[in-house]
Amino acid sequence: MPTVTTIAIDGPVASGKTVVGRRVADALGFRFLDSGAMYRAVTLAALRGGALLADDVALTACAIASELSLGDAPEGTRVLLDGEDVTDELRGPEVEGAVSRVAAVAGVRHVLVEKQQAVAAVGAIVMVGRDIGTVVLADADVKAYLQASVEERAKRRHAERLGTNKETSLEAVEEALRSRDHIDSNREASPLRPAEDAVVIDTDSLTIEQVVERVLNLAAERSGNA
Ligand code: C5P
Repeated sequence: MPTVTTIAIDGPVASGKTVVGRRVADALGFRFLDSGAMYRAVTLAALRGGALLADDVALTACAIASELSLGDAPEGTRVLLDGEDVTDELRGPEVEGAVSRVAAVAGVRHVLVEKQQAVAAVGAIVMVGRDIGTVVLADADVKAYLQASVEERAKRRHAERLGTNKETSLEAVEEALRSRDHIDSNREASPLRPAEDAVVIDTDSLTIEQVVERVLNLAAERSGNA
């Protein structure tokens, strides 16, 4: 009977990966890693260091030099960048506007994929991102790809940010989301796409609980406990 120890969850911006992945990890007692937080942390380091976003060599050097410590937090992944807790800053507009450009750099990806694989090697994990099922954990026991319409995703992200200092108009949220999707899906290095053996879950008409249940069912089927 195969034992499930690695669960890969991928999908576009605001597809619900983090909240679903976090809950799946809690239900199974696995660790959780939001790989997007790592790309965001390197982006923050690059912005702080004044690296030009067109300079692939400088961005790669920044990824190599950044010391990232990652921890589980109830809402996702907590990140220390060179010893400083930057988790809250990672969701700000500056990082958000630049992260897809930084994540398109092959050298940056190389550095972060190695770190992600090292984290996964230590024990059971749920990892979420864009290339987890295709690259980082290509042999993952369970692979899910969460999909939702751009309108639904924009609505969710907009609602999440209402009343916070990150609130913007629904139109602005949708435009930023389309722009990131476009870069993530069309880059040369590990573009966003479902792995051939991923189960695609359309979340438009599902609640978070239902998506969590589907992923847990996939894990149970895979372990032969369904
Ligand atoms: O998931 P999140 O929106 O936090 O990811 C931020 C950005 O990091 C994505 O838009 C994408 O450009 C990049 N990313 C990636 N590969 C991953 C995770 C995130 O390219 N595995």
